Amino acid sequence: MSRFWSPVVHTLTPYVPGEQPQMQRLVKLNTNESPYGPSPKALAAMSSQTNDDLRLYPDPEGVALKQAIAQLHGLNPNQVFLGNGSDEVLAHVFAGLLKQNKPVHFPDITYSFYPVYCKLFSIDYKTIPLGKDFEINTSDYNIPNGGIIFPNPNAPTGRSIARSEIEKLLANNKDSVVVIDEAYVDYGTESCIPLLRGSSCPENLLVVHTLSKSRALAGLRVGFAVGHPALIEGLERVKNSFNSYPLGRLAQVGAVAAIEDQAHLEKTSAKVIQTRNKLIEQLNALGFDTLPSTANFIFTRHPKYAGAKLYQALRDRGIIVRHFKSPRVEEFLRITIGTDEQSGELVTALKEILT
Ligand SMILES: *Cc1c(COP(=O)(O)O)cnc(C)c1O
Repeated sequence: MSRFWSPVVHTLTPYVPGEQPQMQRLVKLNTNESPYGPSPKALAAMSSQTNDDLRLYPDPEGVALKQAIAQLHGLNPNQVFLGNGSDEVLAHVFAGLLKQNKPVHFPDITYSFYPVYCKLFSIDYKTIPLGKDFEINTSDYNIPNGGIIFPNPNAPTGRSIARSEIEKLLANNKDSVVVIDEAYVDYGTESCIPLLRGSSCPENLLVVHTLSKSRALAGLRVGFAVGHPALIEGLERVKNSFNSYPLGRLAQVGAVAAIEDQAHLEKTSAKVIQTRNKLIEQLNALGFDTLPSTANFIFTRHPKYAGAKLYQALRDRGIIVRHFKSPRVEEFLRITIGTDEQSGELVTALKEILT
């Protein structure tokens, strides 16, 4: 503590990211990274850009990347906003769109960065409890609010809702922004992006994506938001009041090549889905109770073994998963889907622990 801190710093409870242990030979299933590498085309593009041009600032507008994203999703480039990871995009969304006179609403169990941004930007928020099966019921959000945000599929539960549910939410919520964080959408969830195409684009829907999960570029730090041009313009105002160059030259060329390599995304996501479905079966055969997942992770508990104990026993065997000590979910483990081999090691370790 220092007497030189700004007053708000004393009130912050920063987000605690999943650990990135430096030990070798770990089965790392704790931060939802892809077990497969990024597109080889992205790596090649970055290598070829590793030259003297790095003395120059990058394109502050990220024009080429906005075009690639717009092209992929059938949008106009002025509907795309870029950031240094979707966490930075989300920070600008909270500061620029969700700081209103009424509280922003999000689920009680969700991405734990949301309340952290609320504290940082002094935004009032209200949490809406998930249903008894940890599902989001959009009808619970039909109350006055200063904005709504949740991931679809939700994190850390992995449960998703249909696009038609989000259309209902939009219909009932015309006076504030609805932000759908689609970090894990590529593993079997219906995206809301089609709603943004053409002249029927709603004024108040923003969809946030990241290249950190299904595109296997967590180390590059690229995320984006898509929505109505007027929402994007507001985000650009915030971004250009904070950092004009959030994405470096390598990040921009790598991201363009990654976005263009849809075949790589589809192949690796299909593999993750296959491994996930098999793992759920194997865990349930061991007595686990696993929520349905359309993400690259699962949320599971065992009726006879405490979450904290299982977490530690796995850790002792070199397998790192995520455990949250919060109410309602402390019996659960969130397990990232790795390779088939990693899944096998996990199941073997659990069999040993449960006997
Ligand atoms: C991983 C994640 C993000 C952040 O991803 P970045 O690496 O910052 O792009 C955002 N939202 C959710 C729900 C996530 O799980």
